[in-house]
Amino acid sequence: MPSFQTSPGTRDILPPQAGRWRALSDIFADIVQSAGYECIIPPMFEDLGVFLRIGDATDIVTKEMYDFVDKGDRHIALRPEQTAGVCRAFAQHRPVTPWKVWYSGPNFRYEKPQAGRYRQFDQVGVEVLGSDDALLDAEVISLAWQFFARLGLVGVELVVNSLGEADERAAYIEALRAHLESHRGELSEESVATLSRNPLRVLDSKRRQDASVIASAPRISAHLSVASSSHFAAVLAGLDALGVPYRVDEMLVRGLDYYRRTTFEFVSLSLDGSQNAVGGGGRYDGLVEDLGGPATGGVGFAIGVDRTLLACDAEGVFDAGSLALDAFVVDVTDGLAATRLAEALRAAGYSTDRAFDGRSMKSQMKAADRSGAAMAVIVGPDEAASSTCTVRNLATSEQVSVPQSGLVAHVAAALGPRTPRRNPQ
Ligand code: ATP
Ligand code: MG
Repeated sequence: MPSFQTSPGTRDILPPQAGRWRALSDIFADIVQSAGYECIIPPMFEDLGVFLRIGDATDIVTKEMYDFVDKGDRHIALRPEQTAGVCRAFAQHRPVTPWKVWYSGPNFRYEKPQAGRYRQFDQVGVEVLGSDDALLDAEVISLAWQFFARLGLVGVELVVNSLGEADERAAYIEALRAHLESHRGELSEESVATLSRNPLRVLDSKRRQDASVIASAPRISAHLSVASSSHFAAVLAGLDALGVPYRVDEMLVRGLDYYRRTTFEFVSLSLDGSQNAVGGGGRYDGLVEDLGGPATGGVGFAIGVDRTLLACDAEGVFDAGSLALDAFVVDVTDGLAATRLAEALRAAGYSTDRAFDGRSMKSQMKAADRSGAAMAVIVGPDEAASSTCTVRNLATSEQVSVPQSGLVAHVAAALGPRTPRRNPQ
């Protein structure tokens, strides 16, 4: 047993899984950049106060924050999500609006670790600041939808709702509280506890005991103003125009307090109930102002990378491909031939590995096979004497002798052209 293991809720993402992580982030970048979103990299820790704006009734703030006092007596927290940091950045730098950004990176929450729930987990997401337009909400939602589709996922459902403006939401919460209080005796112990903290979250309860009280609860739609209702209708019209299928669910409240009007979640039908949300988001029009900036509309989403990949596993799509090398150089002379030939191939754009430590021919050939390379380039004493190399197709075992000076041209003829590496002038 080694002395140290990963800490609970964290994992080493090893190859080839780590490659899959990168490929996922690349696909995400491709989709959102084609819609005009630019990459932002917010810091991984900030003043705790930034994250307190997420809401003092949320689990993220009350239970899950990784916060500490640093050596300069600052109260710091590791970011539990990136929306608050992006809004803080907007308030600090005041970029031209609408500001459309995307991000990819880790977040930290002190949760009970289980499948699909970790203490360090990755998200990809977008935020747009400086617009109220309902068609922007539809654009944002459709980007997440396209992303899941591009991965090959078919069992993902989009659920949407509107929570209204702050005052409408507050009036609804009071009506809901009154209803739940009057049925207090029928609710589960957990929901009674949640009720005093955050009545909205009772609607999230999946406990059978709570079902009938929830079913008879007042609906948010009855508390929406005309403006909020028509904003929501416009979001849905935008989704229809984009051909994005959705289900309206008035029980969708989400865990963050800052949402206004549009709220949505993507649920994987192939994941286990309590960890089946693969992404979520909504409007958060008051958040920039809460962070000391001007009143600014905002909308965005975050997708959980870990859970999305679990959904891919469950559906058997978006496999982890190993790195497919073009060539592997085997050199049983002085090793320098391998140094030169591997470098020539790499410079010409062919991915190439080689053996080290002066291993035997047998051991180097084994490594070449294991590497998954298309071809082995072999240099033994005979080849070295004649400045040639033997190029072996590792799939068919056919081999030919090629002058070392003609190796790159030979590989290019066999594998097709690649983009050469650009060296500094
Ligand atoms: P949940 O209700 O499952 O705790 P959440 O509402 O807290 O999710 P958000 O804050 O909206 O989640 O984050 C967006 C996405 O990030 C989630 O849909 C999920 O896919 C992912 N996510 C959130 N927390 C974790 C975690 N601890 N481990 C892995 N993924 C997570
Ligand atoms: Mg959570």
